[in-house]
Amino acid sequence: MSRIHPNRSPHLVLIGGGHSHAIALKLLATHPIPNLRLTLISDVTHTPYSGMLPGYIAGFYSYEETHIDLPPLAELAGAEFIHDRAVGLDLERKCVICDESSPIPFDYLSIDIGSTPARNTVPGAAEYTTPIKPVPEFLQVWQQIEATVTQHPDSPLTLAIVGGGAGGVELALNVQANLQRRYQAAGQPKENLTLHLFHRDERLLSGHNAWVSRRLEKILRDRGAIVHLGENVKEVLPDCLICESGLKVKCDRVGTSIFWVTQASAPPWIAASGLATDERGFILISETLQSVSHPFIFATGDIATMREHPRPKAGVFAVRQGKPLYKNVQRLAAGKSLLKYVPQRNYLALIGTGDKSAIASWGRLGWQSPLLWRWKDAIDRKFMQQFHEE
Ligand SMILES: Cc1cc2nc3c(=O)[nH]c(=O)nc-3n(C[C@H](O)[C@H](O)[C@H](O)COP(=O)(O)OP(=O)(O)OC[C@H]3O[C@@H](n4cnc5c(N)ncnc54)[C@H](O)[C@@H]3O)c2cc1C
Repeated sequence: MSRIHPNRSPHLVLIGGGHSHAIALKLLATHPIPNLRLTLISDVTHTPYSGMLPGYIAGFYSYEETHIDLPPLAELAGAEFIHDRAVGLDLERKCVICDESSPIPFDYLSIDIGSTPARNTVPGAAEYTTPIKPVPEFLQVWQQIEATVTQHPDSPLTLAIVGGGAGGVELALNVQANLQRRYQAAGQPKENLTLHLFHRDERLLSGHNAWVSRRLEKILRDRGAIVHLGENVKEVLPDCLICESGLKVKCDRVGTSIFWVTQASAPPWIAASGLATDERGFILISETLQSVSHPFIFATGDIATMREHPRPKAGVFAVRQGKPLYKNVQRLAAGKSLLKYVPQRNYLALIGTGDKSAIASWGRLGWQSPLLWRWKDAIDRKFMQQFHEE
């Protein structure tokens, strides 16, 4: 940190327009930090808001309503926007290595690039499945599937989702709701869709209470999904999934109609850069959101693991880290000591069921109601509103 020339503004580079960076940029726009040069490197111009992504898949929201337009946000914050993908870090020379641009030097760095479902442990998964993240690639396949059902509603379709955590279950419910509606609108039976959901544990959403798990399983089964519990997918073929139990399930190939929504993983270049990571390759950070090995680097959201306060990889934590990140950058620029941030231990999960109803999960409590959907919808719209106003 002492290497900064006294007559030059320090350069803060942000990699990824994830939830924390979106909030921090918004704060930088309204409360600029004097003498700080800013750059945002993002591999997309529009970043999805995770809370509304399932509702977008169900068809309740438009693309604009569910995505944050990063270049104008960066401009408002006084940041240069670089549309590129970071692929490495040179920590000695303090440079970000990108796919296309020449190395981008920084004084301070902040990383909020999210995570992707791990696909390297199951043969065939990387070749024959579509991961839910990166979201733009997933949406491309999803739009192909929507178009196929709209154009050929008399043809049955078989899809599979691997992963029965909150993301996989919410995806299943919303994919099913959308496609069944399309079949019915064309005068075809909703049974034209066969949807398989594979989960290695004996109950869905094992991190939530038993009522929530059972309720979601019942909704899926009642709507005709085939839920395979205690089934570990061990191999994927172009049109077939094979489980450790010997179960084989055939799927159609529209794009790649097997969706992969398993445990979050970090890109290998993070650990390869020399940053201290946890055992899964996520950046280990302290309570000040700084890397424990390289304090000139901040990290937030899914890509970071708080050493003292590990939490599930959920958007709610990424959102909450946005303000403390901004505050600590502000304090760093002013030469003040950084503040500690302790994330909440419990959080309220609101899981949309694809029919404008939602299930709330809070500790041992669970509840389902259309009122919860309206509440979730209001919270999510309010969150996005701040990025739609100048
Ligand atoms: C179907 C589904 C539903 C979910 N619903 C919820 C929910 O309701 N509530 C909740 O709390 N969580 C939910 N989650 C989890 C949530 O999506 C993540 O925890 C959250 O998105 C993490 O936010 P983030 O800021 O870490 O990263 P992200 O939101 O993933 O953003 C990362 C950004 O960085 C960009 N990026 C990635 N790599 C690079 C790179 N190398 N160079 C430049 N840019 C890069 C990406 O394009 C993206 O714009 C859901 C997940 C799924 C799969």
